[in-house]
Amino acid sequence: MADVLVIGAGLAGLSAAHALTEAGSSVVVLEARDRVGGRLEGGVIDGQPIELGGTWIGEGHTEMHDLVVRLGLESFRTWNDAGQLLVELGGRRSRMSGKKGAIPKLNPFALADLFQGLTRFKRLSDGVDPARPWEHRHAARLDGQTYETWIRRNLRTEAGRAYFRITAEAVYAADASDFSLLHALFYTAANADLETLVSVDRGAQQDRVVGGSVLVAERLAADLDIRFRSPVRTISRTTDSVTVTLRDGNTFTARRVIVAIPPTLAGRIEYEPALPPWRDQLTQRLPAGSVAKCFASYSTPFWRDDGLNGQAVSDRGPVKVTFDVSPPDGSIGVLLGFVEGADALRWQRQDDVQRRDDVIGCFTRYFGDRATSPMSYVEKDWSTEEFTRGCYGAHFAPGVWTGFGPALREPIAAIHWAGAEYAVEWNGYMEGAVRSGRAAAREVLSALA
Ligand code: FAD
Repeated sequence: MADVLVIGAGLAGLSAAHALTEAGSSVVVLEARDRVGGRLEGGVIDGQPIELGGTWIGEGHTEMHDLVVRLGLESFRTWNDAGQLLVELGGRRSRMSGKKGAIPKLNPFALADLFQGLTRFKRLSDGVDPARPWEHRHAARLDGQTYETWIRRNLRTEAGRAYFRITAEAVYAADASDFSLLHALFYTAANADLETLVSVDRGAQQDRVVGGSVLVAERLAADLDIRFRSPVRTISRTTDSVTVTLRDGNTFTARRVIVAIPPTLAGRIEYEPALPPWRDQLTQRLPAGSVAKCFASYSTPFWRDDGLNGQAVSDRGPVKVTFDVSPPDGSIGVLLGFVEGADALRWQRQDDVQRRDDVIGCFTRYFGDRATSPMSYVEKDWSTEEFTRGCYGAHFAPGVWTGFGPALREPIAAIHWAGAEYAVEWNGYMEGAVRSGRAAAREVLSALA
């Protein structure tokens, strides 16, 4: 018997457990895997740490920056200094500045089109309250169409449309046709603006943790009571207690439970009695995106000598976005490529050799022949993970925010919810997970007071 059970030892669950423990509650964390971190996972390439999941801490991610310092870790800037970003649009390649707010080189017509599209989108997202997107006065109209529909209606040129589609894939690991316009506006409002979401300096990709972001989770976990290899199967509740049963039949009882796992996985738990329909049907409607991270290492970050910052953006793919994720001292060069959305679904069905060839082929197209023969290659497809089932997080199809939005964060008797998907600020990011975990802890403490 504990005061509180926390299901999931990702950043949200760990942050909740930490806050509750500090406030004097007894807490047991039940984690399905044999490690903490969830969507944060450390890997290695040629002896150097890499991040197989969440990586960057952005500008404004104040709680994460603060945690890094408090846990005795250090951060460093993503390599973006002396180079340009490579853009491949409609089969043509060009370079552009990697600074926040930079716009690709386009013909005047496409440029004007893109500019008016960005202005229109910003005006719309500025008007959405991320705490209650369903209350927007045009919510039904904004939620009644996909983001793709809006792109087609509001951008006239292929280049302008490609810009919005690529950013959709990069930010949501899903295609613009998978989620509603209101969701795109909500997510953008929750994360400052579109420029912040896609930028390195003063953006969401600004900083990395020396040794890898998973160290934040590992250090947060240090003094907590965590039961590993404990996948939860059932949650039975009364008005003032909960009993949680694991797959192996072991049970735990507490006054409250915080379910800190992605919503789609929360929907796979059995509830006794069943959840109210507005909550149950919400979790039936929140699929995760599809993303694989692919790394190739080289003896040097050679692209820097060519005046490139290792970032490429393409409308062709299957790798449509790349980054330089070399170690801070640049002792070797490491390129990271993302395969996302529908590309990921096609790419993941091929054999190992073809998948690698596809990725290295993209790196070679972007950065030249020196990319052809990496020292090592590592890939991680998050759709294959039983306790994640796709990334970066959940996306809301048309009608979901307006039909079920108020059910997202509402506790059901002694059951509370936490995770990056529940955050009002920095939704979908490590920062959002931490804030959401702490918010759930506050909610529980006030319920128990
Ligand atoms: P999770 O990390 O998913 O934690 C949930 C935990 O619950 C897991 O440990 C899981 O094993 C456990 N669990 C699941 N089911 C059960 C069960 N039935 N019983 C018990 N335990 C269970 N964010 C950034 O800020 N910057 C980035 O650069 C960034 N890049 C990303 C790149 C990738 C490829 C991915 C996958 C994510 C990225 N993110 C990034 C997002 C970020 O990693 C997540 O938002 C955040 O880590 C989510 O934390 P969480 O605690 O909400 O969920």
